[in-house]
Amino acid sequence: KICEVDTDCLFCRIVAGEIPATVVHETDTTLAFRDIDPKAPVHVLVIPKTHHPDVVTLARQDPAVSADLLSAAAAVAEAEGLLADGFRLLFNTGVYAGQEVFHVHGHVLGGEPLGPMLA
Ligand code: 5GP
Ligand code: ZN
Repeated sequence: KICEVDTDCLFCRIVAGEIPATVVHETDTTLAFRDIDPKAPVHVLVIPKTHHPDVVTLARQDPAVSADLLSAAAAVAEAEGLLADGFRLLFNTGVYAGQEVFHVHGHVLGGEPLGPMLA
């Protein structure tokens, strides 16, 4: 079972093709698409196709897909030309981090100097 669609989850609906997204990378287990409100010249979200609310849950429930997600983030960073100058891979997790979408997603941010993380 590759894709568990939770119809109440925005990113599950993107995986299901019910909501459009600009997809930049896809594997059997992951999808990467541009953030709708980019915070940097490159801002891509990398998600597992299965529903896990946050990165802690994913790491505990599915280590193999956790590894796939890291590999997908690396592939996106390379394809977007971010490896030479560097980039940020960020997982907002829970309330204090301001997580808004509770389907785990890594933010791949780059294309300009990003400044201190908490600025
Ligand atoms: P969080 O704060 O949960 O880590 O980040 C959620 C991200 O999802 C935000 O950067 C926001 O701009 C992005 N986002 C929210 N809704 C949509 C959408 O419908 N499509 C896309 N591509 N990105 C979205
Ligand atoms: Zn979901």
